[in-house]
Amino acid sequence: MTVWHDLLSNLAIVALATGFWTLGHRHAAERGERAQQLVLGAIMAAGTVACMSLPFQFMDGVYLDTRYTFLAVSGFFGGPVAAALPLMAGLLRRAMIGGTGLSVAVPQMLAASAVGLLAHRHTSGRPIRYKDVVLLSVGVAVTGILGFYVKLSPSTWLGLTRGTTIPFALVLCGATQLAGLALLQERRRHDATVENRMYRSIIEALPDCLNAKDMAGRFIAANPATALLMGVATPDALIGRKDDDFYSLEVAERFRQAEVEALKTGAPLTVEQRFVRRNGSAAWLSTLKVPLRDRHGHLVGVITHNRDITEYKHLLQELSVAQSRLADAMASMADGLSMFDANGKLVYQNERLLELFPLTADVRQPGQSLFTIVKASIERGEEAAPSGWPEDVIERTVDVLSKPGDRALRLRDGRFIEARTRKTGEGGFLIVFSDITAQREREARLRDLNSRLKELAHTDGLTQLPNRRAFDQTLDSVFANALKRGTDLGLLMIDVDHFKRYNDTYGHPAGDECLRQITAVIETTLAPMTGSVVARYGGEEVAVILPMANLAETISVGSLLCNCVRDMRLEHAGHEHGVVTVSVGAAALRSIAAPEKEELLREADSALYAAKASGRDCVRSAITSDLVNTPGVSWN
Ligand code: GH3
Ligand code: MG
Ligand code: MG
Repeated sequence: MTVWHDLLSNLAIVALATGFWTLGHRHAAERGERAQQLVLGAIMAAGTVACMSLPFQFMDGVYLDTRYTFLAVSGFFGGPVAAALPLMAGLLRRAMIGGTGLSVAVPQMLAASAVGLLAHRHTSGRPIRYKDVVLLSVGVAVTGILGFYVKLSPSTWLGLTRGTTIPFALVLCGATQLAGLALLQERRRHDATVENRMYRSIIEALPDCLNAKDMAGRFIAANPATALLMGVATPDALIGRKDDDFYSLEVAERFRQAEVEALKTGAPLTVEQRFVRRNGSAAWLSTLKVPLRDRHGHLVGVITHNRDITEYKHLLQELSVAQSRLADAMASMADGLSMFDANGKLVYQNERLLELFPLTADVRQPGQSLFTIVKASIERGEEAAPSGWPEDVIERTVDVLSKPGDRALRLRDGRFIEARTRKTGEGGFLIVFSDITAQREREARLRDLNSRLKELAHTDGLTQLPNRRAFDQTLDSVFANALKRGTDLGLLMIDVDHFKRYNDTYGHPAGDECLRQITAVIETTLAPMTGSVVARYGGEEVAVILPMANLAETISVGSLLCNCVRDMRLEHAGHEHGVVTVSVGAAALRSIAAPEKEELLREADSALYAAKASGRDCVRSAITSDLVNTPGVSWN
């Protein structure tokens, strides 16, 4: 009777200690981890000392108690700090008791604490399971009885095992499980409370509406966001009420339908719902309906998660308007447009592009690479390909087209297309194609016109000979060239004799015609002389440049021209010779005082003056020794 009495007392202490822990844990938990360890250690230390004060005996003289349970359980649930307190208290208490068992009890107590700590380490980082508690209790039972077999002789082992160690091991095992399970339960309860609190605060802080309704559509739970949406002060104000208490019958009916649908299928359902808020503004909700089941799997209601997507819907609408505007703009553009992604694949093209490239319109479609498009364009003879290996040409064209820059393409049908490439934000590129054929034609016409104008500016209208301006420019360059090369250069100044009289006699138009004929014959005569230049110098004066000709050669050319004009035998009644004649002044670069253009002109001019003075229809030069007699003219 005494054994059972004391044994029960020990178990009662175990139960009491775990009861205290259940009570104290909540407060300790609020003060942090270390406080929990200390409180657990203190309670277990008290339990250790209490049970050591109420030992029980299975055998005479062998006092036993459940201290090992306390030592191990505190280490297992609380770690080293919690383990230290009961161990110190137990050792102190055991030392006070004294006796022969001390040498067995101390190692056993240390071993029990060690078992608890080892198990603590083994389970750290994961939830403790019931299996862990069972293993711990076995460990405690073993450490609690090992000392007997070490201390006592093997001859006593049989009796010892039957009478003491087996019952004691069972007691330790049971007590440890009792304490372990109670502490495990408490820990789970505490974890669940923490978890619950966490979920609750998440749900309460959630900007989205979260609520649960029963099968009849009455609110059974709701978060503050739901209350806000429904226009009530607190979630409690919603409990027991239905949607039709807040919305029009039609809207409430629509909401209810989605719930009924989810309840019918038993599967989650997402719907987008439009409704009018109490303040009259239209709003959109994205709603998830999830059937709510009890632990037996029976449907008991529906959970609703609402997200206000009004803003999102507005943005979508704006986006769609912007997109259609952009599409309109693209479609009505005068330029062809094609947009490629970073991989060189076409992602967008407008109608105009297909009109510009009708032969490859079927290839210029989203998903096609620029390479395929260029290849088709060259192969089908749309683009005039530059020379080279076909593959190289395609690669080169793709390379050029995909890099930022402006260039012109020549199509086989004669059109010119300008291709302007620009980079896009996503690593791709955009090519804008413009038909510049008309522009090119205008440019060509302008070029033609310009050169005609230039020609006109340098041509004499009456004789079609280069005019004075052209003469000056030509003489400049020919003179510079002659100086540079050290060659000679001849110049003739030709003036029609008594031309004023000719005009007076035959009229100005006839004078014009006469001038035309004279210049034509001069031109024809000089045609075989490469490099010679004839120009109308002014009035009825003509100048002739003879590159490389010395003075003698220049004079003989002048003489030849004089003869040719006379030989035309154009009637001139006002002339003593009765025919039109010319006087010629000759000069050459090497035969003048200073190698200067002005000097050459001056020399030729004064030679002409000399020719006039000598009776006309003759050639003169400034140097008398170079005088050449002209047939029919006297040089006296
Ligand atoms: P000369 O030279 O023999 O001394 O006598 P000239 O009568 O030719 O003398 P001058 O050089 O003074 O006169 C030149 C004339 O040439 C005057 C002008 O009426 C005429 N003349 C100049 N340019 C043209 C032209 O383009 N057409 C016509 N019909 N006559 C011109
Ligand atoms: Mg004259
Ligand atoms: Mg004259």
